Amino acid sequence: MKLLVTGGAGFIGSAVVRLAVARGHEVVNLDALTYAACLANVASVAEHPAYAFEQADIRDFKALEEIFARHAPDAVMHLAAESHVDRSIDGPGAFIETNVTGTYHLLQAARGYWEGQGRPGGFRFHHISTDEVYGSLGETGRFTEETPYAPNSPYSASKAASDHLVRAWGETYGLPQVITNCSNNYGPYHFPEKLIPVVILNALAGKEIPVYGQGLNVRDWLYVEDHADALLCVLEKGRVGRSYNIGGDNELRNIDLVRMICAILDRLRPAKRPYSSLIRFVEDRPGHDLRYAIDPTRIETELGWRPSVTLEQGLEKTVRWYLDNEAWWRALLEREGVGERLGTAARG
Ligand code: NAD
Repeated sequence: MKLLVTGGAGFIGSAVVRLAVARGHEVVNLDALTYAACLANVASVAEHPAYAFEQADIRDFKALEEIFARHAPDAVMHLAAESHVDRSIDGPGAFIETNVTGTYHLLQAARGYWEGQGRPGGFRFHHISTDEVYGSLGETGRFTEETPYAPNSPYSASKAASDHLVRAWGETYGLPQVITNCSNNYGPYHFPEKLIPVVILNALAGKEIPVYGQGLNVRDWLYVEDHADALLCVLEKGRVGRSYNIGGDNELRNIDLVRMICAILDRLRPAKRPYSSLIRFVEDRPGHDLRYAIDPTRIETELGWRPSVTLEQGLEKTVRWYLDNEAWWRALLEREGVGERLGTAARG
């Protein structure tokens, strides 16, 4: 298939691009190259004949129309977004513009192209979203595809809005769409301001490791390459008009996750004192959801998808990757504002 992947220079998008090319798909990577992008993430496929890059903004309808006409994709995988919860609290406007308005323009461009092609039934608009649209869980229960939306942060509200737009374009105009809602991802090429890289990089620098509140918030972690695999599975086998939750069955309190990473570092890069001695609890942020947990029954039973690594295996691979790829993260830390955020940003 020829895939138009938006946000393919970001964390998850680049994993999708690398995997799709490896599986024999043609890929057009459409990315505006915001602060969160890094073309080094796709350097391994940059020269591949099945890969093309288009620098474009999803808020620019004309540019999108031209890209659809030029490349004639069989499917869109839409990952471009403003994605960092803490940034959405400080400045929600960009999240509305990209995640809501940008998704609207992309839907309109995809619809115009699809209708112009004679409405092919095999076309797919695959929207990649988050479990944060469901809000927060108490001590028990898990999110299913029927859980009502109740987003709590500007980020999750903007993603919820984009999910609704995609669904409506399917119902109203017949655009063949699928939506996936995934739990927290981790793995190689994760931008340095997110929780797991913050822990690894602060520990390596001998800096305090900030943890919000008492670290009791629970997240369900999925290795990014397993997410990319699940996305291709849904694209190829998922039913049109349906949504699929993707999760790794790896629920963990933040403090336990941080301790696990410290223990891996103690083993791989021993220091004078255990890295866990650097943990500091910092004041919690408003609207911090207590617990997320995904019920992956639908994707497992309908599509036969399962994650390939356990959290222990995935975390070890991730820590090793950061130890082996210092040049990658050092270059990003030097970007304006990113290094300074490391002291405070400790949310997934
Ligand atoms: P990311 O921030 O690493 O990457 C986003 C990419 O989108 C960047 O390359 C950026 O340049 C691009 N982009 C941003 N605004 C754009 C615009 N206006 N036009 C074109 N490109 C633009 O994000 P990520 O963590 O890889 O997340 C990818 C998608 O997956 C997002 O839609 C996010 O909501 C969703 N998601 C993320 C997680 C997670 O744990 N990271 C979990 C579930 C779902």
